[in-house]
Amino acid sequence: GAAQTTNFLKNIIEADLAANKFATRNWAGVPGEASLHAAGQPDPAKIRTRFPPEPNGYLHVGHAKSICLNFGLAREYGGVCHMRFDDTNPEKEDLEYVNSILDAIQWLGFSWDANGTSHQYQASDYFDFMYHAAELLIEGGHAYVDQQTPDEMRANRGTLTEAGKNSPWRDRTAEENLRLFREMKDGKHQEGSMILRAKIDMGSPNINLRDPAIYRIRFAEHHNTGNKWCIYPMYTFAHPIEDALERITHSICTLEFEDQRPFYDWLLGQLRDAGMFADPLPHQYEFARLNLTYVITSKRKLMQLVTEKHVDGWDDPRMPTIVGLRRRGYSAGAIHLFCDRIGVSKGDSWIDYSILEGALRDDLDEKAARAMAVLDPLKLKLTNWDALFGADHAEPCSAPVHPHHEDMGRRQFNLTGEVWIEREDFMEVPPKGYHRLSPPRSDAAGVEVAGSMARLKYGYVIRCTGCEKDADGKISAVLAEIVPDTKSGTPGADSVKVKGVLTWVSATQGAPAEIRLFDRLFTEAHPDAGGRDFLEVLNPNAKKVVQGWVEPGLASAAAGSNFQFERHGYFVADSKDHGAGKLVFNRTTTLKDSWGK
Ligand code: ATP
Ligand code: MG
Ligand code: MG
Repeated sequence: GAAQTTNFLKNIIEADLAANKFATRNWAGVPGEASLHAAGQPDPAKIRTRFPPEPNGYLHVGHAKSICLNFGLAREYGGVCHMRFDDTNPEKEDLEYVNSILDAIQWLGFSWDANGTSHQYQASDYFDFMYHAAELLIEGGHAYVDQQTPDEMRANRGTLTEAGKNSPWRDRTAEENLRLFREMKDGKHQEGSMILRAKIDMGSPNINLRDPAIYRIRFAEHHNTGNKWCIYPMYTFAHPIEDALERITHSICTLEFEDQRPFYDWLLGQLRDAGMFADPLPHQYEFARLNLTYVITSKRKLMQLVTEKHVDGWDDPRMPTIVGLRRRGYSAGAIHLFCDRIGVSKGDSWIDYSILEGALRDDLDEKAARAMAVLDPLKLKLTNWDALFGADHAEPCSAPVHPHHEDMGRRQFNLTGEVWIEREDFMEVPPKGYHRLSPPRSDAAGVEVAGSMARLKYGYVIRCTGCEKDADGKISAVLAEIVPDTKSGTPGADSVKVKGVLTWVSATQGAPAEIRLFDRLFTEAHPDAGGRDFLEVLNPNAKKVVQGWVEPGLASAAAGSNFQFERHGYFVADSKDHGAGKLVFNRTTTLKDSWGK
């Protein structure tokens, strides 16, 4: 697992721990946790990380990377990872999203109450602290109420090459700023009429330090605090305070926030100097977000796929959401293996989709029970069955559940006089090198060629004798004869050598199943590159539904269980639609990477 490989974050943590950086850190009582630890006690957690999603959508594979990283580091170093809902925006939070986020974390094998010291954190619980922090800044002369219009503010912010211009309101006294800010809080001013800004440096080469906005007026109800507030903190102001309040040691975020780090440090430094926080303060570290080819990891765009019904919901097996991957048949182990393999880096790059699928195959190969299934069924009639065995005979066959794990046992199924085979396993006029079934015929030179022989896997060698066609000339059945005494596992099995081995399902004992064949959702590696509308490159063949047949034992497959259908790939019994009355399997992935080949 991820615990074995090293990365730059682990090096940082190990150096911090070796330097005893957090030894002096006293537990002053994290908001909401006060009852768990007396103030002044040493923090029982060696490090604290956090995973801070906004509960405004379902988590995707990129979030999985962040979860494995943050929860994984905490687990590895005797720390705690805080599950924090970043809900400072008075947007409608949906309980559906909250629950799905918690569920995804548990499914990935993590919990947010490790060591009994952590619980579910909610950024909106800290509005009082954030407000207090803003007043401290004002009192120290480090924040002011600006009454420029949004357009003026934008114009005066400057550019990358040009310094910004000071606001005419920048030099208000602390008293005046405090009065106005309190009026903002009391609802005395219109939305957009004024804003609280940090007073840093309009000439800074880092635009994020040009007096960033920290509080804005929004007359909006908040799911947690109701109508208590009509001013809300900006994310860049709220986040460092959340981290400091929770005594986070390593605040790990994606590279887009690198330019925000100076403000993060500035803000916490000011609040420490004002007595609100103490050293050691949390520190922000950035890593490269996951960009995966053929995949979109923008919540907004994923939302669009769902609301415009390009997919069947957040958990559609084509979606890169954790619920989608799970329904597709991904195991948590595959996700961990993937995250371990891609590692953590400081430079943005694209990860090839085949790395994700490779991890998936490697994980499932070891775990998935084997089974036979026919996805494109064509009937095969064994014409000498009745004569050899009697019409009602069913010949017991068996196969290992897993070829490398005897302890997983054996599976039993019967060979009968009629079976389903794949349509592609018969050709009337086969090309050279075709080792499956073809009837006796005369070739181009008029030479008689015998019907071909192949083995019904785990059963007998058969020889093709012909085929039947329907009125339209379409092949409706293949005819073949059992070659006696060639059954797999008997002394005569090798008496006749054949190159072709056919998977099959008994036509009388197999179970019908709906089989959903999934593929990549987009036809282009970079679906939203260069401002292209990603909907234009949706893969129309990303979902195909076929009616097939599966080994009788699969009639009792539990929803959510993984299988390798021999020669076809990995499949999972659908978690929603599969049941005893109707078997439904999703193709998780093919056996080999065949994309674009
Ligand atoms: P939004 O764009 O709606 O803000 P987001 O992608 O930033 O969405 P959050 O819910 O804010 O999603 O993310 C929670 C955490 O997951 C953040 O710390 C973020 O850094 C991390 N995260 C999000 N996307 C990725 C990604 N593609 N790779 C790695 N980490 C990610
Ligand atoms: Mg975000
Ligand atoms: Mg984002």
